[in-house]
Amino acid sequence: MTRFLVFILLIYIVYRLFRKKEPRRRTGNSSSPRELVQDPQCQIYFPKDKALSLKSNGETLYFCSEECRKAFKSGKKKKPD
Ligand SMILES: [Zn+2]
Repeated sequence: MTRFLVFILLIYIVYRLFRKKEPRRRTGNSSSPRELVQDPQCQIYFPKDKALSLKSNGETLYFCSEECRKAFKSGKKKKPD
């Protein structure tokens, strides 16, 4: 039962991620715990607290998964489906 709920929640999160392709900048609300960042590999926006970071050229990049981070490091560009 719990697994089923987690599965539904995951589908909902993925659905939300794919719907929200536009960058969302919150202004005047620095206490927001849900800052969205963009994965430069797959172009998905997701909450920063779920991100894997990578320092590149003095910039911190955020990735949705280890796979994306590895792919980005090895210079492969995944085509968005
Ligand atoms: Zn990604």
